[in-house]
Amino acid sequence: MSEERETYIQPLHQSSINRCLRCRRAYMFRDRWCIIPKQQPFAVAASQGSLTHRLIEKGPDGIEMVRAQVQEYIQHLLSRIDAGEDLLGYIAQEANELDNQFNKALAMATVLWEKYPRPKHHKILAKEKTIDISFRLGKPEDMPFPIVNLRGRLDEIVLDEKSSLIYIRDYKTTSRDVTYTLTGYHYSLQCRLYRLLAGAFLQDLPDHKNRSPDGFILEILQVPTISMGSKDRDYTEYEYTFTRGSRKGETEMRRDYEGEPQFSNYLQRCRGWYAERGDEAVQSFAVRFIEPVLPQELSLALGLAVIYQNLPADVPSAFPRDTTASYCKFMNRICPYYDLCCTDEAAWPAIIESKYEVKPPIQLEATDCDPKIPKEKESEDDKR
Ligand code: SF4
Repeated sequence: MSEERETYIQPLHQSSINRCLRCRRAYMFRDRWCIIPKQQPFAVAASQGSLTHRLIEKGPDGIEMVRAQVQEYIQHLLSRIDAGEDLLGYIAQEANELDNQFNKALAMATVLWEKYPRPKHHKILAKEKTIDISFRLGKPEDMPFPIVNLRGRLDEIVLDEKSSLIYIRDYKTTSRDVTYTLTGYHYSLQCRLYRLLAGAFLQDLPDHKNRSPDGFILEILQVPTISMGSKDRDYTEYEYTFTRGSRKGETEMRRDYEGEPQFSNYLQRCRGWYAERGDEAVQSFAVRFIEPVLPQELSLALGLAVIYQNLPADVPSAFPRDTTASYCKFMNRICPYYDLCCTDEAAWPAIIESKYEVKPPIQLEATDCDPKIPKEKESEDDKR
């Protein structure tokens, strides 16, 4: 079966390297065979995060554009339901949730913009930029070090015109505690790869050639646990006096609700939700880079990923499973390839035919192989 299967080689990106480091078999299915489940449970957290991210990226002027895109997408989902594609109800669930999520995302973005307006001295050098780079994973040039082809998308690269420092701005949302979410971020794969990509991008800007970004600006919000609903209708308050029972004679304030829920009321409730949590739930801060651009840890991770990126992918046993099984239930979800991992390979063609579809990678023009990483001052450790 596997001999006949078409396999693909595509540039590495943060999520595929991460997958490869966690489980080579998942990497093979997702990034070399390019198979994905035909039906996937609706991931509320992922959808909420990407909607919020999109709104923050586009800024206040982009709200109506994102709203229109969401409505268009809901119509697309409804047409798929009409066409009988929603066998498990996942599409209907997604369509139902999207309005709710847009309102929550807009409230989150508004709170962030109010609390941290963009500084006027931050000049945007790049925005929503997809960057491809290609470089040799070592020196000297005559040694057979592998070539790394890397692709990634950066939210923003900004120049602080007061300090002349260059930052990568990244937005994050989390349903957990912000401090918990950021644990280890500064040495994470994402942080390091963004730095490489941004450094390569700067080489194309005459004013910043031979520079590397100085750090990160992280903007992070916790997702409010409240949703827009009946409490967000307009209301009038009145005093109510109990006329019987144990509270007879006592007075309390009551509300008469009317009409449909209003976003302005929901936003006000979200502002209160964030205010109750103090500074913890919305944060914006800068982190300076303190380690080399290409530390040995990152070289090792990239070297391993390059091996599996190019290995013939028709021998599944060459792509070992995660025997710790931790990635099999990563983020509280069972891996979409679990059925295959639990089944004899002889049964795979039938399972793949019924449960998965092939999504080949989009082929972009080949990148050149110039190492665009700016040269760093060599440390004593590097010279050893
Ligand atoms: S089920 Fe587990 S071992 Fe199999 S591909 Fe997924 S993460 Fe890897």
